[in-house]
Amino acid sequence: MFNKILIANRGEIALRVIRACREMGIGSVAVHSTADADAMHVRMADEAICIGPAPSGQSYLHVPAIISACEISGAEAIHPGYGFLSENAAFVQVVEDHDITFIGPSAEHIRMMGDKITAKDTMKALGVPCVPGSAGGVAHFETARTVAAEIGYPVIIKATAGGGGRGMKLARSAAELETAFRTARAEAKAAFGNDEVYIEKYLGQPRHIEIQVFGDGKGNAVHLGERDCSLQRRHQKVLEEAPGPVIDSETRARIGQTCAEAVARIGYRGAGTIEFLYENGEFYFIEMNTRLQVEHPVTEAIFGVDLVREQIRVAAGQPLSFTQDELQVNGHAVEVRINAEKLPNFTPCPGRVETYHAPGGLGVRMDSALYSGYTIPPYYDSLIAKLIVHGRDRPEALARLNRALGELIIDGVDSSVPLFRALLAEPDVQAGNYDIHWLEKFLAQPQEI
Ligand code: ADP
Repeated sequence: MFNKILIANRGEIALRVIRACREMGIGSVAVHSTADADAMHVRMADEAICIGPAPSGQSYLHVPAIISACEISGAEAIHPGYGFLSENAAFVQVVEDHDITFIGPSAEHIRMMGDKITAKDTMKALGVPCVPGSAGGVAHFETARTVAAEIGYPVIIKATAGGGGRGMKLARSAAELETAFRTARAEAKAAFGNDEVYIEKYLGQPRHIEIQVFGDGKGNAVHLGERDCSLQRRHQKVLEEAPGPVIDSETRARIGQTCAEAVARIGYRGAGTIEFLYENGEFYFIEMNTRLQVEHPVTEAIFGVDLVREQIRVAAGQPLSFTQDELQVNGHAVEVRINAEKLPNFTPCPGRVETYHAPGGLGVRMDSALYSGYTIPPYYDSLIAKLIVHGRDRPEALARLNRALGELIIDGVDSSVPLFRALLAEPDVQAGNYDIHWLEKFLAQPQEI
């Protein structure tokens, strides 16, 4: 096992990794920008090294500074958290070239899943159900027309190098195809420097359901069921839960096994998430994330496992600490992502937090790097806290969430807490009755939040 791990991240996820290290008796090294000198992860780690100025390009994304911090501190492994360098294959290559262990999958698997066409082709060949669409990239409009007519409208044009919902365009009919095709290519070129696009059938009312998988890198893998993340705003998840309100245990076992077998066959190492759109009882693969997800705590809650600990174990060459049979769903968990932003327009709202009080009690977990007197810097993501609740069933978890939100105090900055209070009062949310478009429609109605 490692003696010391460097965490190439900040905020709540850096704390999350430090906590796992401490429980495992492993030393932790925080890295930080000058803007984060007073951040909680810097205070909580065993050691901290400043790696550059505030802009993340010069600090959290600055590979030479991170490698130097490893060498100075003697850390043998790097945990990337999520975001930043977590899915950067070139970074993983540099880390490995310096004989440092990357806590995550191989550069090859990150590259494979980072290219959406390769990812889809690979998954299809491994028996994972995919959205009907073009076989590979579509370079010419004439081909796009033929493919779209074959799969039937509406269709969606997506960038091979896509991410964060960019380079994606909907065409409801043949008349809209040319504009959608050319705009998607132009956006993809501008955002990713690669204008390759592909075409998929557009699903009208899907849910977003994702399967958590875990491989040991030696051909063994398990699944940890699904998370339903259908409540989204601008393709960003807002509330996540496990198990999914519309997934029964038989369906979970079937799709879970398909995913576990797929990652086992490619020799995948570490945590991964296979994302699907789910409509009329069918799963359609959209992408695989080769890292720990923001919403991983809901899975930890219902299975009673520590996914970061597991990541560290397999990176050190140890076997997974559980078998598929030992992984049994227990109760229901819900997470809300609390951002420093002002409603109703969701304008980022950094600044000084005068008072912070976290909720507690049975089944409540607060993952946050806030403290009273902390100033949220304007340079990074607006996520300031994740509140995760666990109950025996969904109604108990939702009641607990409402109770916990009532206890939470974040004074000094605006947050998205009022949105969650409003959502919990909605009959559709109480019933688990929503698709990926539900939240946008809800927010489009005039209301007071
Ligand atoms: P990104 O990597 O840019 O986030 P994804 O492929 O994960 O792209 O898709 C992001 C979101 O776009 C999905 O969560 C879904 O809301 C929507 N989407 C993607 N593909 C389709 C599709 N075939 N039909 C309907 N909606 C889709």
